[in-house]
Amino acid sequence: MDRAHVWHPYSPVPGTSTPLVVESASGVRLRLAEPFEGHRELVDGMSSWWAAIHGYAHPVLDAAVRDQLGRMSHVMFGGLTHEPAIRLAARLVEVTPPGLEHVFFADSGSVSVEVAAKMCLQYWRSVGRPGKQRLLTWRGGYHGDTFHPMSVCDPEGGMHHLWTGVLPRQVFADAPPVEFDPGYAQRLADLIGQHADELAAVIVEPVVQGAGGMRFHSPEYLRVLREACDAAGVLLIFDEIATGFGRTGELFAADHAGVSPDVMCIGKAISGGYLSFAATLCTSEVADGISRGSVPVLAHGPTFMGNPLACAVANASLDLLAHGDWKTNVKRIEAGLRAGLAPASGVPGVADVRVLGAIGVVQLDHEVDIAAATRAAGANGVWLRPFRDLIYTMPPYVTEDADLERICAAIVAAAAAG
Ligand code: PLP
Repeated sequence: MDRAHVWHPYSPVPGTSTPLVVESASGVRLRLAEPFEGHRELVDGMSSWWAAIHGYAHPVLDAAVRDQLGRMSHVMFGGLTHEPAIRLAARLVEVTPPGLEHVFFADSGSVSVEVAAKMCLQYWRSVGRPGKQRLLTWRGGYHGDTFHPMSVCDPEGGMHHLWTGVLPRQVFADAPPVEFDPGYAQRLADLIGQHADELAAVIVEPVVQGAGGMRFHSPEYLRVLREACDAAGVLLIFDEIATGFGRTGELFAADHAGVSPDVMCIGKAISGGYLSFAATLCTSEVADGISRGSVPVLAHGPTFMGNPLACAVANASLDLLAHGDWKTNVKRIEAGLRAGLAPASGVPGVADVRVLGAIGVVQLDHEVDIAAATRAAGANGVWLRPFRDLIYTMPPYVTEDADLERICAAIVAAAAAG
């Protein structure tokens, strides 16, 4: 029935693979309807695409949704507001880098990137510079699957090249080197300067480029971008949808450099992975600029904007982050991944092993045989979802040492099999 009727991400219909049926999830474990490679329960190495940072069925998050459900599951956000949204917006302003003052709630990461692009383009129109409409980004990035985000994804990385000609034509800089390279930094600043008249904004994933290739780079480049954007009169967008809420070891990746963007996108872990939810934050300068325009409103308003259930669970997730020991846990996971993934370097076909915060990556010198690698991980009782030449983990922060060791062993086995 699934293969006949359900369309899965980046898949054909009728389906050609057989997805595992998950009956329930709790803590860091997925419980399957049928055993996979001998296991009914798999330790989740993926946090459901990096979102379930506190694990599944967390009592505090469950209670927040249940409590809100009794009051109001949804109400339109045009002309109406509610306490969970107000409280969440104020708290997001407090925890994100200084200067971000206004919060636009979106329903997914891709939409929050659409909103970020729209904010920047509309800002320049409003202040009398309508020619500034393009975005500059790094190669190797990923910002989502709707049209504006697709235009700033790595043009060679995925399937989005299908849309070349339809997508806005953006400006691409080379992907940043891992270590700080002053020559590269200068070239980057020069490129921004050269295109200043047509650039609305630079958009990047700070410190970690995720779905475009799991590459890490020096936070120093964020300072370079900030200075170059200021000098050229270009806005700076940080897409922290993957990196936000502690994944890299700081609450936001921008915190590694102490740099504030003009606009910031957050999603995924914002709701602890419970509900589809995201937000775009901006400075007062951007918001005021838009408000001074001939169309003085941001022309965007999704039906499920500011959903109270999502706001309530996001507030509860922030409570867990505020009172919990996520930072210690991410440090512990980082050390565990470094030790546990070290043996992967000796596996034939492994090109690189890298770790940052609660992110562990094994890169092969060839495309992963995804089915074989997934089975090898399953045989170790672990759920992984490799892509391209990458086998990686972004586990929930509550993953205990024994489970982390299992994840590492599964990655090494998957690297050998895939
Ligand atoms: N931006 C980044 C950095 C992402 O990693 C993703 C998703 O992986 C997105 C945007 C898109 O988010 P969503 O899948 O919620 O639309």
